[in-house]
Amino acid sequence: MHRLLLVEDEEQIRNLLELNLEMEGFEVITAKTGKAALDLFRGQHFDLIILDIMLPGMDGIAVCEQMRLRNAEVPIIFLTAKDTAEERVEGLKKGADDYLTKPFDLEELNIRIRNLLRRAYPDQTDQGVSTYTFDKYKVNFKTYEALTNQGTVHLTKKEAMLLKLLIDRKNEVVSRNQILQAVWGYDVYPSTRTVDNFILSFRKYFEPDPKNPRHFISIRGIGYKFAEPN
Ligand code: CA
Repeated sequence: MHRLLLVEDEEQIRNLLELNLEMEGFEVITAKTGKAALDLFRGQHFDLIILDIMLPGMDGIAVCEQMRLRNAEVPIIFLTAKDTAEERVEGLKKGADDYLTKPFDLEELNIRIRNLLRRAYPDQTDQGVSTYTFDKYKVNFKTYEALTNQGTVHLTKKEAMLLKLLIDRKNEVVSRNQILQAVWGYDVYPSTRTVDNFILSFRKYFEPDPKNPRHFISIRGIGYKFAEPN
């Protein structure tokens, strides 16, 4: 499993990217500032760095420069809000391998990450299957296939993202806002009813008795909780 360092100060984007990258089968470590990123970088191994340029304090370009002094090999992708040629050139000169301009397409980011990893680590193949099993149910977050009350179904990407979010925070209440930010992110927000409908589907798929849910619990006025079976 490849280990990525994600450096991004904006919480909403950081959460969206973290969830997306975990769904892609990566282990993701996050940092909110350049200084925190460098501290992690000095002490740990990472296979690839995703680095926002506009950070409070030390900016991404300075962080990249510091990282390159220690490690000339690790792939670095810049995230840049400003699509100016000057900034791109500066970033590439300081040793970045690629960049993406916000708002970017998540699929494009995933493809660029895979390309850089393949070039940097040609001997390793993609593995990173992430599955979760509970009761008689099973979810594969890589293929979006799930074993449900209705047999094997193919989840949509957003269904899989919401499911992963709830399972990652099992036994914790996740608010509707957190769900909208983490799963819908840059896209136009759906009404909260959309989230309710996703939960209704999950109950049909993954509850022995959908009318008396044991796993997908509504917390009135706040959000939802995935209760892990004992
Ligand atoms: Ca930023």
